[in-house]
Amino acid sequence: MTTLIEGKTVAQKIFDNLAHEISLLEKKPSLAVIIVGDDPASKIYVNLKKKKAHELGITSQVIELDESVSEQELLKKIDSLNNDPAVNAILVQMPLPEHINPVNVIEKINPLKDVDCFHPYNIGRIATGNKSYVYPCTPKGIFRLLDFYNIPVEGKHAVVVGRSNIVGRPLAQMLLNENATVTICHSRTKNLSEITKTADILISAAGCPALIKKDMVKDGAVVIDVGINRKSDGKLCGDVDFENVKEKASFITPVPGGVGPMTICSLMCNTMDLFKLQN
Ligand code: NDP
Repeated sequence: MTTLIEGKTVAQKIFDNLAHEISLLEKKPSLAVIIVGDDPASKIYVNLKKKKAHELGITSQVIELDESVSEQELLKKIDSLNNDPAVNAILVQMPLPEHINPVNVIEKINPLKDVDCFHPYNIGRIATGNKSYVYPCTPKGIFRLLDFYNIPVEGKHAVVVGRSNIVGRPLAQMLLNENATVTICHSRTKNLSEITKTADILISAAGCPALIKKDMVKDGAVVIDVGINRKSDGKLCGDVDFENVKEKASFITPVPGGVGPMTICSLMCNTMDLFKLQN
């Protein structure tokens, strides 16, 4: 029996609770989003975040800066938001134009307002096994799914495919902090399938369609697909060959509707957590 992990439904439950909690507050949490330039995909993401914040009763402001803005001007803007007590959470939409160093931008955000959890202080807290102010949105979203479906992590062999700073690396640290035995795989990993076959929990965040095939998965494994890829017909797919792998998995996430909705959900929860921390 395979259980489909329904991220959309889980996210909606969390949104309902969050909206109720916010409705009881006199002062509302507040999120500031900075977008630089006209990248159409970035604009769509920013609008989605703004819309969701509005639905939940979170105050949001979008600061649109011209593509030509200097790094210095952007850092100055972040500083003014850092010093504004009416702003609880700051997000700078990535990617940034080439003349701006994202490291300087991320490090400028006050870790207490770092809603994406990209700042080395917050990431470092997680890497050293301590509690952080917030947790990276996609990894935290995956943890919320595991929690919701009562999937234990302790003592399990978790294999994470992908080592990016926003998904694979922090996710592996968080699994380790929850006492999983963790293996991280990446593009130079040899014998990927030999490793994935030993996973109790297999999480793929590689961005490669059909990377994870049925013969790479252990019977009864929990399979979490972070990948978002576009097929030639325009439809979305994950990294996992869903139709075939689902025959073997005990739990599996679909794409779309699995991990995806949990990322924005974590962003809104992080905004609330930072608001609480500052009040
Ligand atoms: P990156 O491109 O930054 O990282 C991909 C990682 O996968 C790298 O570590 C890379 O290895 C590894 N990798 C690539 N190909 C292979 C392969 N054939 N075998 C093993 N490892 C491989 O991507 P992100 O982490 O930003 O995103 C990963 C995927 O998740 C994308 O599809 C993205 O769209 C999606 N995503 C989904 C989110 C959601 O909300 N559902 C949120 C964020 C991302 P190496 O380091 O050696 O290059």
